[in-house]
Amino acid sequence: MRQSFVIGNWKMNGSLDLTSELLQAIENGIDDKIASEVAVCTPFVYIAGASSLLDSNRIKIGAQTVSEYSDGAYTGEISAKMLADIGCKLVLVGHSERRTLFGETNDALVAKVVAAQLSGLIPVYCVGETHADYESGSTFDVIENQVGALLNCEDIDLNNLILAYEPVWAIGTGLTASPEEAQRVHAYIRELVEKKDREAAQKLRILYGGSVKPDNATALFGQEDIDGGLIGGASLDADTFISICQKA
Ligand code: PEP
Repeated sequence: MRQSFVIGNWKMNGSLDLTSELLQAIENGIDDKIASEVAVCTPFVYIAGASSLLDSNRIKIGAQTVSEYSDGAYTGEISAKMLADIGCKLVLVGHSERRTLFGETNDALVAKVVAAQLSGLIPVYCVGETHADYESGSTFDVIENQVGALLNCEDIDLNNLILAYEPVWAIGTGLTASPEEAQRVHAYIRELVEKKDREAAQKLRILYGGSVKPDNATALFGQEDIDGGLIGGASLDADTFISICQKA
């Protein structure tokens, strides 16, 4: 039995005030009735403050990306070790906005997953097809390519990893994959991992992301291979985010 996980991705939103208001409201709403693990990925600059604001470790704080390098002359980069140092517990790697807007390649992303794991962070490796891929029926090829890059790397620890399936056409658009469609892709991802390590594949949590809202969360999270969600826009409203967590 896999414990579900709901992760909020605030993207480049917020302020010092909003971070404390939103986090406190979320922390107040995450009670014992919520079985899911919960995390919030804030912008880098708010991670340390967010970690010290929380009274319990019921909510984990995450980052939205990380450097593939451990230290040195990489101006502007933030290493996994630095993130771990300020209380960060997990990190998104390969969010579609990183892949498309910042040109992050599979190779760089796999190196980031390795760097995160070496510093004790849980990487949340994101995969997903574009609308053009979806329309041309290439979803499974794209997923195989993105997940395959990870599986081909001998340095990856499959027991310390979360995957997120996020169809790019569903992110921030109000469109979502149907629960059945999403389940097919999640089952396929698990199958790919199973070929490498059957036991790790059974334990691996695969989250769905792409316009998850309280009214579609129950059906999505009810699918056998969907183990929770990666939530963008809806994580910026405490009540909405808590309501999604309640459904996981
Ligand atoms: C995301 O950014 O990971 C995401 C899923 O966004 P949204 O929920 O707004 O579609």
